[in-house]
Amino acid sequence: MSVNLPAVSKCAVLTAFNEPLSVREYPMPAELGSGELLVAVELAGICGTDVHLQRGELNVPLPLVLGHETAGRVAAVGGDDPRDWLGNPLAVGDRVSFTVGRTCRHCRYCRVYRRPSRCLNRTAYGVNLTAARPPHLLGGYGEYHFLYADTAVFRLPDDLPSEAVVGAGCALVTAVHGFENLRMQWAESVVIQGSGPVGLAALALAKEAGARPLIVIGGPRERLERCLRFGADLVIDIEEVPDPAKRRQMVLDATGGLGADVVVECVGMPQAVAEGWELCRDGAKYLVLGHYGDAGTTALNPHVITRKELTILGAWGSEPQHWTVALEFLRTRRDRYPFDELITHRVGLGEVNEALDAVARWQTGKAVVCPNG
Ligand SMILES: [Zn+2]
Ligand SMILES: [Zn+2]
Repeated sequence: MSVNLPAVSKCAVLTAFNEPLSVREYPMPAELGSGELLVAVELAGICGTDVHLQRGELNVPLPLVLGHETAGRVAAVGGDDPRDWLGNPLAVGDRVSFTVGRTCRHCRYCRVYRRPSRCLNRTAYGVNLTAARPPHLLGGYGEYHFLYADTAVFRLPDDLPSEAVVGAGCALVTAVHGFENLRMQWAESVVIQGSGPVGLAALALAKEAGARPLIVIGGPRERLERCLRFGADLVIDIEEVPDPAKRRQMVLDATGGLGADVVVECVGMPQAVAEGWELCRDGAKYLVLGHYGDAGTTALNPHVITRKELTILGAWGSEPQHWTVALEFLRTRRDRYPFDELITHRVGLGEVNEALDAVARWQTGKAVVCPNG
């Protein structure tokens, strides 16, 4: 451990659902085991999921240091010859990001079904690893973040700014996972429902996969303008066109009268699903990507799935290989998809609650916490 590290780390902590976060100090780990890391947090993204966590929509243990989209600098390393997930050597001062999900590697989902994102013993930094016990520092909304030895850490290349990584946030890796399941073909017509971070990430991946036409349904207007800059062919503003039947007609008109080959739900509101699968052509694929939080139920007519012969897909979280894709995508496509420019709000630990409110009201491009100033 470095002698220059403080004895405590300030963190913004969720102590009760539907209550503001409070700033608390937790002791730093006394020493690090082999492969463990301590990261000084540069940027921690405020994800829409954090709003759902604050509202108690996922069953998570409290107190909880939120923050699952984090970049920072290695402050201390445990053991000899520390390496990142790709085998690059790691040293104090290196800029890193990391996957938030930790898997057990021995349950049936890990070993047999090869779906580690559904690991029966999965834990995730900033989501379900409580701060109640040491090592406490298990989320991004803090000056320091502890990383267990089994974490997939990625040393960030010099030409990939932390702002791009956190600006894209968990949305991009989640979308990479979802698109892996979609197996898109060149020149398929695609509708993205939602123009927030997940919608924008899905839009960028669909554009690179050759989608045409590429249609986004969402709002408010600033977000749709950004979708146009990211390559959308048509944007449909839900405020200007509040009637779902009219929106469907616009999609039909843009896709030769039959509907889209692929529709991706990135809204997180249950009622979006009934509208979304009606935008599909017969035999299309419908990917539900925006429902990480449990936002409740909605009335759906299963006849639509049968009649249209739909393929319904989902994707939960991400795995380390999705990060290798996402980081290379960000590094090589920064000019086309400037995710770093999404960051509209930078706040300290003391202003986290105002920023969470702004995220909840869709007033941000991307809000980030800078715990170390
Ligand atoms: Zn997230
Ligand atoms: Zn497992």
